[in-house]
Amino acid sequence: MEEVFQSAREDMVQKQIARRGVKDARVLAAMRKVPRHLFTPSDELEWAYADMPLSIGKRQTISQPYIVAVMSELLKLTGTERVLEIGTGSGYQTAILGELAEYVYSLERIPDLAEEAQKRLTDLGYTNVQIRTGDGTLGLAEFAPYDGILVTAAAPQVPGSLLAQLAEGGRLVIPTGRRFSQILQVWQRRGSQFIQEDHMSVIFVPLIGAEGWGDNSLR
Ligand code: SAH
Repeated sequence: MEEVFQSAREDMVQKQIARRGVKDARVLAAMRKVPRHLFTPSDELEWAYADMPLSIGKRQTISQPYIVAVMSELLKLTGTERVLEIGTGSGYQTAILGELAEYVYSLERIPDLAEEAQKRLTDLGYTNVQIRTGDGTLGLAEFAPYDGILVTAAAPQVPGSLLAQLAEGGRLVIPTGRRFSQILQVWQRRGSQFIQEDHMSVIFVPLIGAEGWGDNSLR
């Protein structure tokens, strides 16, 4: 069975990710390595390597593999960085970041998801990732600043707290925009300024919190 999953992963990397333009060799290697089928619900196992997001319960999703790869590449990690992720969900993106950075903090607002993800990552042997429950729109001041911040839920606008927790030269990757359609943005700190780039259109579940959407916004 492991061989079947491994060849599905190889296919996923070639057809969905490399062919569409992701070039960072470390990102491609991480996507080839992390067993995505251990992060998807057991009743969706046959779709674990399919070209789409999947439901993980509690109205949340594990992102499409290609989007995980694109967002990871936009952080431009070399292996020495401390990274903050907002929206742990299944923990799949956290594992990919664990392969790419020195240390990863990940924040999830739903305690059950945080707990399950931490267990998965511990079982897989990731000793350089730490999951916390809390409102990620406020970041995690305790360990700031971060060389990279990755937000895997959609914000109405960029939370100021996250910009404030970026290290010099650090990059924040975040989908911002309307409730059902966003643009993937990169914000890079240069002194007291930020350089902002727009990338592709995306659709994410809402980032809910003090500097995100309200708890009762459409979902
Ligand atoms: N990266 C995840 C995908 C997560 S979906 C994966 O690879 O599986 C987005 C997640 O963001 C959901 O689990 C949702 O509960 C969480 N979320 C939404 N608002 C949040 C907030 N303010 N702080 C932390 N997590 C939040």
